[in-house]
Amino acid sequence: MQTFVAEVDRITNLTHDVREIELRLLEPTAIDFQPGQFISFDIAVEGKPRPVTRAYSIASPPSRPDRITLVFNRVDHGPGSTYLFSLKGGDRVHFKGPAGTFRLKDDGTRDLLFVATGTGIAPLRAMIWTKLEQGSPRAITLFWGLRSQRDLYYQQELADLSKTYSHFRFVTTLSKPEPGWTGSVGRVTGLVTEQIQSVANLAVYLCGNGGMIKEVTAALNAKGLCPIYREKWYDGEPDAG
Ligand SMILES: Cc1cc2nc3c(=O)[nH]c(=O)nc-3n(C[C@H](O)[C@H](O)[C@H](O)COP(=O)(O)OP(=O)(O)OC[C@H]3O[C@@H](n4cnc5c(N)ncnc54)[C@H](O)[C@@H]3O)c2cc1C
Repeated sequence: MQTFVAEVDRITNLTHDVREIELRLLEPTAIDFQPGQFISFDIAVEGKPRPVTRAYSIASPPSRPDRITLVFNRVDHGPGSTYLFSLKGGDRVHFKGPAGTFRLKDDGTRDLLFVATGTGIAPLRAMIWTKLEQGSPRAITLFWGLRSQRDLYYQQELADLSKTYSHFRFVTTLSKPEPGWTGSVGRVTGLVTEQIQSVANLAVYLCGNGGMIKEVTAALNAKGLCPIYREKWYDGEPDAG
């Protein structure tokens, strides 16, 4: 793994507790990675003899190798989250990477299903952009689970992508919507059960908490066998963000 120095170029608050930052690489000036891979920060923690290491998936495609986008949510008192939320425009950061085996695999002509909860969208966004940029003709579906309306982000971007690329569609489902929501309600597992008729021609990529990954894997297995690639970030409830 290589060590990189980068500058925080842009910070965007996507929701009340999710932030996106764009890092511009300084040394070296480009990063060679596969969509789905992550980078990691070593973070000093008061009272601990050694820094803790935290991984963050690259949310942008490799077609722009001089910049990477990270998307992360607030975790109270968490060293990784606190560090990333403390960054200001112009700050310099050091990270290692790229790493990880959660990457686009060659599954021939299979259609692609991506399933995320919360910020688990990060590596899937890099993968989806890459597939669409490459002109892949295969049908691409994204199921994304969030909690309520105030947790929504990237909805316009995804809508624009689905207009430009007719073989891409996405469904965002809310597990605890406020009144007035006319979209899908429930967990991503429900979408998989109801909307996926057959897995015979499907390759699936899952990213998020352990509860969702377990449930969705079981829902897919009930329909038959297909390649399922998983990136579990932490053990958590299926509808967690
Ligand atoms: C390969 C990989 C890629 C990752 N990519 C991302 C990413 O792109 N964006 C991102 O936000 N996180 C990502 N994570 C999670 C991230 O590495 C940290 O675990 C997270 O930021 C919490 O770290 P912390 O030090 O702030 O809190 P900690 O003190 O380490 O965590 C406290 C507890 O919070 C829970 N937790 C961990 N992650 C989350 C989360 N995202 N949301 C809610 N609860 C959580 C866990 O139960 C954990 O025990 C990734 C993890 C892995 C393994």
